[in-house]
Amino acid sequence: TIILGIETSCDETAVAIVKNGNEILSNVVSSQIESHKRFGGVVPEIASRHHVEQMTMVLEEAFNTAELSWDSIDAVTVTEGPGLVGALLIGVNTAKALAFAKQKPLVGVHHIAGHIYANRLETEFKFPLLALIVSGGHTELVLMRDHGNYEVIGQTRDDAAGEAYDKVARMLKMPYPGGPHIDRLAAEGEETITFPRAWLEDGSYDFSFSGLKSSVINKIHNAEQRGEVLKKEDIAASFQASVIEVLTKKTLRAAKEYNVKQVIVAGGVAANKGLRARLQEEFDEIDVPLLIPPLHLCTDNAAMIAAAGTIAYEQGKRSGLDLNANSSLPLR
Ligand code: ATP
Ligand code: FE
Ligand code: MG
Repeated sequence: TIILGIETSCDETAVAIVKNGNEILSNVVSSQIESHKRFGGVVPEIASRHHVEQMTMVLEEAFNTAELSWDSIDAVTVTEGPGLVGALLIGVNTAKALAFAKQKPLVGVHHIAGHIYANRLETEFKFPLLALIVSGGHTELVLMRDHGNYEVIGQTRDDAAGEAYDKVARMLKMPYPGGPHIDRLAAEGEETITFPRAWLEDGSYDFSFSGLKSSVINKIHNAEQRGEVLKKEDIAASFQASVIEVLTKKTLRAAKEYNVKQVIVAGGVAANKGLRARLQEEFDEIDVPLLIPPLHLCTDNAAMIAAAGTIAYEQGKRSGLDLNANSSLPLR
C-alpha cells in the first residue's frame, strides 16, 4: 500500500508518501516558525496564507523525492482536525481536489492519531499500548487495544504542556517556541523553588498546567517587586521538574493499571531531554519498552498522517468529498 499524506493543522505545510504504513518514501515539511516568531506565537491568518503559497511546491517535492507518479498512490489521506480551522481547510481542500481529479480514495485522519503513528515508522506496535501525547495543543494519555482504536483516558483540563512551556519561556524573555530554551536552561539550573504538582482527584489521569504557569508568573513578579534576583536557570529547572514529575508518574501508573506492552511518547514536548531521561529511567525499571520518535518525527509532519492513514485505509475507512475541517475533532 502506498499512501499520500497531507498535514496543515498548524504552522507546518507537509506532504509525505509512505509505503505499508512504515516506510517513508518522502517526507517534506515546510515550516513557518520564522514568520510567526515576531508575534510570539502562531497567527492563524498568516498560517493559512503560507499553506496556500507552499502547498503546490511541497506536493511536487514529495513526488520528486519518492520518484513516483500518481499511478502508484492507493489513497489520499489528510489531517481533518483538530487544529486551526483556516489552516486545516487548505490541506482538506487540496486532498479533496486531488482525490477527485486522480480518482483516488480519500481518508480523513485525526492529528493525534498521526502523532501516535509516527512511532510505527520506527517500531511495530504491540497492544495494549499507552501513548502520552505532549504537544503545543495537546496533553493526553491514550490507550490503544488495537490498531486504529483509541481510548482517551486522560487529558488536560486547561493548558497543554507545550503551551505552558511557551508561556513560561515568554516570561523569561525567550523567543518562540520556548520549549527548547527552557529545556536547555533547566539543564543548567537547580530546583530551588518547589512549584505545585497538579495531581487532581485520586486516580485521575487528567492534567492541569495553568496553576503551575500562574505560580511561575507570580514568583517572577514577586521577586521583581522585592528586587530579589532569581536565576532563569533555576526557574526553568523548577518549572520543568513539576511538569516532568506529573507527566511521568501518571504515565507510569496508567501503564501498570492497563498492563501495557509498550509506551509511546509523541508531540513536540517529547523532544524534551529532561522528560525523555526520566521516562526512560522509570520504564527501564519496570521493563516496559518506551518508544520516542526521532526529533523530526516528534513535531508536525505528514509521514505520521500517512502512517495513521494507512491503517484507517486498510480498515476500510473512507471520507466523502464533503469532508470538512473540524478544529475540535474528537479522537475515536
Ligand atoms: P498540536 O500537535 O497539539 O496541534 P503543535 O503541532 O503546535 O500542537 P508540536 O509541533 O507537536 O505542537 O510541538 C510544539 C511544542 O513543543 C511547542 O510548544 C514547543 O515549545 C514544544 N517543544 C519543542 N521542543 C521542546 C523541548 N525540548 N522541551 C519542551 N518543549 C518543547
Ligand atoms: Fe502536532
Ligand atoms: Mg507545530
